[in-house]
Amino acid sequence: MRLSRYFLPVSKETPANAEIVSHKLMLRTGMIKQHSAGIYSWLPLGLKVLQKIEAIVREEQNRSGALEVLMPTMQGADLWRESGRYDAYGAEMLRITDRHERDLLFGPTAEEVVTDIFRNHVRSYKELPLNLYNIQWKFRDEVRPRFGVMRGREFLMKDAYSFDLDEAGARDAYNKMFLAYLKTFQRLGLQAVPMRADTGPIGGDLSHEFLVLAPTGESGVFYDAVYDETDWAGMDISFDNNDAARAKRAETVSRIVKAYAATDEIHDEARFNAEVPAERRRTGRGIEVGHIFFFGTKYSAPMNAKVSGPDGKDILVQMGSYGIGVSRLVGAIIEASHDENGIIWPEAVAPFKVGVVSLRAGDEAVDQVCEQAYQALSQAGLDPLYDDTSDRPGAKFATMDLIGVPTQLIVGPKGLANGVVEVKDRKSGSREEVSLESALARLTDKAKA
Ligand code: ATP
Ligand code: MG
Repeated sequence: MRLSRYFLPVSKETPANAEIVSHKLMLRTGMIKQHSAGIYSWLPLGLKVLQKIEAIVREEQNRSGALEVLMPTMQGADLWRESGRYDAYGAEMLRITDRHERDLLFGPTAEEVVTDIFRNHVRSYKELPLNLYNIQWKFRDEVRPRFGVMRGREFLMKDAYSFDLDEAGARDAYNKMFLAYLKTFQRLGLQAVPMRADTGPIGGDLSHEFLVLAPTGESGVFYDAVYDETDWAGMDISFDNNDAARAKRAETVSRIVKAYAATDEIHDEARFNAEVPAERRRTGRGIEVGHIFFFGTKYSAPMNAKVSGPDGKDILVQMGSYGIGVSRLVGAIIEASHDENGIIWPEAVAPFKVGVVSLRAGDEAVDQVCEQAYQALSQAGLDPLYDDTSDRPGAKFATMDLIGVPTQLIVGPKGLANGVVEVKDRKSGSREEVSLESALARLTDKAKA
């Protein structure tokens, strides 16, 4: 992308109404534009990051065996009356009436819709296990929308729903999602700790929230430092539906959740102190980016979602639901990775992987080298951002750092006279002079790796 052709409305001023760094930076970099409280337009830079996150979430859901669908944002109230949630949900639900006086609502979640799909199309236990997910906009009329996209009213969620014949099956569906989540968050460049969560009236131990550690998080967190040291990406996990794979998943999940980790909602100080040696106790704050939950027949019972079992008798299906806050993740990643100069994108979600900075647009030699670099980097799939404008070098460096371009290739007339360009690393700030050939070779090698 040539910056002269791009829409990147960056601003120097710190927005007055933004309290936390991710919100400030998302506004300053022109990633989003607030439309009204908790409702945003996503501008090109922000949308690019959102879509990269979405793609990684989708890949890991697919790998786990979940199947993508797309459910409506506008849902009929009747389904929610069946489940008993229409009145119970309260003021967070946006209720709408159509021209025929029918009650609709903007979906805050989709248990009812997916259960209705299931009961219409699935007849036999042989069609199980089944996990359907979608990545769709949700609306919750939050009392206090704040922190930008972190607590919006309209937000993008990945929500998956599992259907199983019995509790053992549901437990395995849960384990699959648990492991897929660890992998997803690590691929996004995040450390997300799975923490035991309240299961409410359902009971049991099958609810976890995944929290990204950040001082601005809304939850207090207490956990064992073993979570700081674990490499989930290296985990060898099979999502096959055979006994050996199921046993391995169960063993892996129970090994991970053995270590203490809980949010302030259910934290047990006595247990924390008894189970975790003092030097391994970690406390702080965290942002909830995911939540997985087994709830048995909570929806299948009132909505009569049954399959015929092996003996021909009808059985209510056991369900679980699994959410990831896709748009919240954009903010969470920035909270976890920034410095005084701006955003430091993890490589996997960086909107542009490489920047090309021309120190003198219009200089024939500089233009020619920038153009050559831009073409080569584009062909290598690095999606470069080429600052071909005639702004001052200082302003160009500031923008590249602000929007967090991980590697920057700086081309100026003085360097070229000596046969070199500069390669700058956004995270460390280190700069190195090398020949254009070796700079390009290094960057394109990285793309292949
Ligand atoms: P919270 O306690 O933060 O309100 P929740 O328990 O209501 O979250 P879920 O219903 O489990 O959230 O939704 C799944 C995921 O959707 C959450 O883990 C979170 O990442 C995201 N999410 C929930 N509410 C919002 C919101 N208002 N804005 C952005 N993301 C949200
Ligand atoms: Mg909520």
